[in-house]
Amino acid sequence: MDSRRQKTLLIDPGARVRVWCKECGRELSDPISRQRQLGAECDPEPRTGYDRHDVDQDPIPGL
Ligand SMILES: [Zn+2]
Repeated sequence: MDSRRQKTLLIDPGARVRVWCKECGRELSDPISRQRQLGAECDPEPRTGYDRHDVDQDPIPGL
């Protein structure tokens, strides 16, 4: 008679909370998408710093 049952925790201590896209339900892996709960393909707002394409910056002459 073992009354002390060990609870099996399914949650890993180091596991991150899973977040899914509000629009399409895809699981999100990148921090910005998780923060907004929107995948990159469903997010209407442009993401600065996500894809770093430094365009429209002329090289400084004389360097
Ligand atoms: Zn989505």
